[in-house]
Amino acid sequence: MRIIKYPHPTLRHKSKPLRKVDAELKQMIREMFELMYEHSGIGLAANQVDLPYRMFVMNTEGDPTAKDLEHVFINPVITKRKGRGEDSEGCLSFPEIYASVSRPTEIVLEAYDLKGELVRYELNKLSARAVQHEIDHLDGTTFVDRLTPAALMEVRADLDELTYIFQRDRELGMYGSDEEIAARLAELERLRT
Ligand code: ZN
Repeated sequence: MRIIKYPHPTLRHKSKPLRKVDAELKQMIREMFELMYEHSGIGLAANQVDLPYRMFVMNTEGDPTAKDLEHVFINPVITKRKGRGEDSEGCLSFPEIYASVSRPTEIVLEAYDLKGELVRYELNKLSARAVQHEIDHLDGTTFVDRLTPAALMEVRADLDELTYIFQRDRELGMYGSDEEIAARLAELERLRT
């Protein structure tokens, strides 16, 4: 498992809800946490590790010893949104790119946990922002899609650089064609969604 970077096509994939959590999926979630900590992230969505599943992991401290802050959200839905605020965001799929994003500041999140139980959280500040950023990933949307034209212009050169690296790696055979990637995602979806 590895973190894929912009403009990998899986980052544009809109994921379908999971209908089962099995041992293999739990192992994937464990690996997602490890990758997230390794890269000093606070959240990681399944798309970012090339999986078409509606789930993400989060630890707003990014601290592997803070187990009480470790969360897995399966089939998450935001049921309420309130307020609006701007703050800087980054993303493990856009290394070293940071930009200010406007979002609701308070949300209510409903999701399933690993035990299959429905959980409900009222969130604000960083956790509300992180959850919205991750759910965006599950819909194939990235934080860069939410920038103002002026903010987008500021990161344009960095995005071009990532595009260049992706195309170069693709020519080296690191990724399949768009068709091969889509076929693999469809096969994974068939198993669990
Ligand atoms: Zn992200």
